[in-house]
Amino acid sequence: MTKGNINVSVENIFPLIKKFLYSDHEIFLRELISNATDATLKLKHLTSIGEAKVEYGNPKIEVKIDKENRKLHIIDQGLGMTAEEVEKYINQVAFSGAEEFLEKYKDSAKDSGIIGHFGLGFYSAFMVAEQVEIITKSFKDEPAVHWVCDGSPEFTLEETTAKTDRGTEIILHIAEDSLEFLEEGKIRELLTKYNKFMPVPIKFGTKTETLPLPEDAAEDAVAETVEVDNIINNPTPAWTKSPSELKDEDYKAFYHELYPMQFEEPLFNIHLNVDYPFNLTGILYFPKLANNLNIEKDKIQLYQNQVFVTDEVKGIVPDFLMLLRGVIDSPDIPLNVSRSYLQADGAVKKISSYITKKVADKMVSLINENREDYDKKWNDIKIVIEYGMISEDKFFEKSDKFALYPTTDGKYFLWNELEEKIKPNQTDKDGNLVILYATNADEQHSYIQSAEDKGYKVLLLDSPIVPHLIQKLETSKEKISFARVDADHINNLIKKDEPAISKLNETEKESLKKNVEESINDKKFTVQLEDLDSNDAPFTITQPEFMRRMKD
Ligand code: ADP
Ligand code: MG
Repeated sequence: MTKGNINVSVENIFPLIKKFLYSDHEIFLRELISNATDATLKLKHLTSIGEAKVEYGNPKIEVKIDKENRKLHIIDQGLGMTAEEVEKYINQVAFSGAEEFLEKYKDSAKDSGIIGHFGLGFYSAFMVAEQVEIITKSFKDEPAVHWVCDGSPEFTLEETTAKTDRGTEIILHIAEDSLEFLEEGKIRELLTKYNKFMPVPIKFGTKTETLPLPEDAAEDAVAETVEVDNIINNPTPAWTKSPSELKDEDYKAFYHELYPMQFEEPLFNIHLNVDYPFNLTGILYFPKLANNLNIEKDKIQLYQNQVFVTDEVKGIVPDFLMLLRGVIDSPDIPLNVSRSYLQADGAVKKISSYITKKVADKMVSLINENREDYDKKWNDIKIVIEYGMISEDKFFEKSDKFALYPTTDGKYFLWNELEEKIKPNQTDKDGNLVILYATNADEQHSYIQSAEDKGYKVLLLDSPIVPHLIQKLETSKEKISFARVDADHINNLIKKDEPAISKLNETEKESLKKNVEESINDKKFTVQLEDLDSNDAPFTITQPEFMRRMKD
């Protein structure tokens, strides 16, 4: 047996680890399962290139609770470690990582700017365990070894005959203050949260499955049941596949797999896939938003190589896309840094602008593929698009191709279509297009009506961010101005093509005048027909100035 001291200069780092990371103890399981996954995939690679001459088989990872003895086991069938490798990778690598981490974050860990997720590695086990054992047997023909460490820099390492099959078993002796991690419900919750889409099957207990009855079974036959492994993950989630392999139903099914409590169908999806200059895959979904801004719970999830990292994606995904759902998986997003650093990070900036571009491209292809369908979806997606237009210049620049401007008569126009439509009728004397808009179809009903009666088009812009959108459009586009339909000056803004009176010939004018005078039948008033270019009244009835004074 070897006894040794883990070479760390910070005296007894484990209590420190606990203290700094108290809010995030649960990630230990993610870290240990990640290691088990890595060990399995490494073996897969070595067998595939012929370097490991063993049967790869169908390896899985198992998580087992031994409540009675307060132990949690994580068992893999990966490449295992020799005694030498434990010395190197656990005592030196893992723990030097711990030390480095502490050196780096001793001060900053205290300020709340740090995201609560780190690539902590093996030693995160000591956040919940008072003692950790490793029993491991390498795929190389060497004896299995048993390593024990109780949370001080001292450890023991000895050969063991207790393990005969290849792989590694990690045993955590759960500490008094972490007994929740011996609860089945808690572990299931964590496995579902962090490991749901990891690439190696993860077994947690068993379940009974009912076998299908044979076709010729008797009517009163009872179906047989069997105990099978309860596999908690889907090792090949949709985003890891190529878009050509996936049908619309597959995307929808994955949406529900991702958000089991969400019953609405998504409107459409965007498959992300890039490998240069950074790696990123994922699927984003547009949910129905029109009547449902309350999407607090279902958020975009960030993964790193199929391991859940966080659903706090602020800073990585542009703000306007935070209303979307789905997954983003990238090994290139730095995780152990503060938010302000994240926002300044070059890779993150590129990722953010890539996603923006992809969304814009998708909008263009959707509207081109099926305009009618796109029009129908507009009310559900407009808040995202309009928000994008005011917050991301790159997105705004492309938006003429996919942003719609609905009118109060239920039609949807692209910007250039709208311009064409209103140019003849709604241009003021300086040649500016005057765009009338309503913000509330019910409240402004009578104004809309009278504008429509005059042959004007009225936009219905009813999102909460419309003032900003209008400001953006007015400052970015030339020779346009917006006027709310109930603003008192709108008539002054618009040059009518032909005032009504001018269309009458002289005899018609005379007879109209006579008619009006007769019906008023009061000599105090004079009736005047005039060309009015600011309103539709064909005539005015005025009381001469001197008569008004007489009354005063
Ligand atoms: P990282 O995973 O980032 O390398 P860790 O601290 O998690 O850092 O692990 C340190 C090293 O210990 C790993 O790189 C690996 O060589 C070894 N190791 C940890 N867990 C296992 C395991 N289950 N099977 C084989 N090797 C392991
Ligand atoms: Mg690791």
